[in-house]
Amino acid sequence: MDASWYVLLALLLGFAFGAGSVHLLGLAAQRGRQVMAIASEPIPDGIVAMVNVLESAGIVLDGSNQVILSSPGADALDLVDGRELRMREMADAVRRVWRTGESEVLDLTYRRGRIGIGTEMQLRTRVAPLGNRFMLVLVADRTEELRLAGVRRDFVANISHELKTPIGALALLAEAIEAAAEDPERVRAFSQRMQVEADRLGRMTKELIDLSRIQADDPLEEAERFPISRIVDVAVDRNHVLADAKRIRIMPRVLDEAEVIGSEELVTMAVQNLISNAVQYSPEATHVGVGVRVVDDVIEIAVTDKGVGIAAEEQERVFERFYRIDPARSRVTGGTGLGLSIVKHVAVSHGGEVTLWSRPAQGSTFTLRLPAAHAPVHKETA
Ligand code: ADP
Repeated sequence: MDASWYVLLALLLGFAFGAGSVHLLGLAAQRGRQVMAIASEPIPDGIVAMVNVLESAGIVLDGSNQVILSSPGADALDLVDGRELRMREMADAVRRVWRTGESEVLDLTYRRGRIGIGTEMQLRTRVAPLGNRFMLVLVADRTEELRLAGVRRDFVANISHELKTPIGALALLAEAIEAAAEDPERVRAFSQRMQVEADRLGRMTKELIDLSRIQADDPLEEAERFPISRIVDVAVDRNHVLADAKRIRIMPRVLDEAEVIGSEELVTMAVQNLISNAVQYSPEATHVGVGVRVVDDVIEIAVTDKGVGIAAEEQERVFERFYRIDPARSRVTGGTGLGLSIVKHVAVSHGGEVTLWSRPAQGSTFTLRLPAAHAPVHKETA
């Protein structure tokens, strides 16, 4: 990255000194070039051509710090106001470089649009003399790159934190078993706890792998077509043991049949996660509904429970990785905090969405919406 900047710079300088000089103002307009150029003195033709093809934003200023050339990228970032640089730090750097003759690299934060509502951008800016009459400002927008690096950093920090808990518990339990070797009762109790922690660790590892697979692959690349009723049947079936243990009845109601295009395994996993949450966060002997209907070529799978519900301020956050409203309770149920973020990724990667309605102490409805492969076939009316 760095090297290429300097190669580019060298090329530009080469043009500056090597190519024949032309008067830019008329020429740029004549040839229909995209660069914005306002010059009252000759500028080497090579510079114009170069600035025009720059992928990053490039701006050339003259000796009185007036902008005489700006690339389409610079215009798109809105870095120039008339013949002035819009950012003060950038203009200051240009003045400094005129004085010292030393090129500079700066990381600037730029708020686009009106104060308070614009988006903040991170711009890596290089200012370098272009011969002895012009100054070149090259700007690379690093906003997305830095955001992704932040997401990766958080993810790694979260994983390490989440894995430490069950691993630490396993180590302590192993020690406890050793210390209680003479007491079979306690050994049994500790090894049961070990089983719980090991299961949790296993589940978390599996879910993390699922999640990174969904994020890395495009499920529509090797898409299959499958009926939504089959997804519901399998997802309900996989939750039977869990539901029976709490005497909860799962009541599927598929009003419309339709096909989905995508990964059958992933969509099943998403619906299965919603149903298992509904069961986990509901009191014993209640009902969980799984309704399917098709509205305007969109399949809606609504999973409804009469459980603990989710407060309004938590409703956005439950889709984040590792987010749990009550971590202590989650440890008892074996929750990993990954289930809903898997659902969200499956929805988005299939061109759909997942929404939530919930009231504390009343219950929740999670609705997964996916595009239907074709018009619905009406199955029953009541
Ligand atoms: P977990 O493995 O902890 O269930 P999820 O990502 O599936 O992780 O859910 C995140 C959090 O959202 C849960 O810890 C729980 O607090 C809350 N939650 C999810 N589903 C429900 C539901 N049906 N009713 C109430 N709370 C729920």
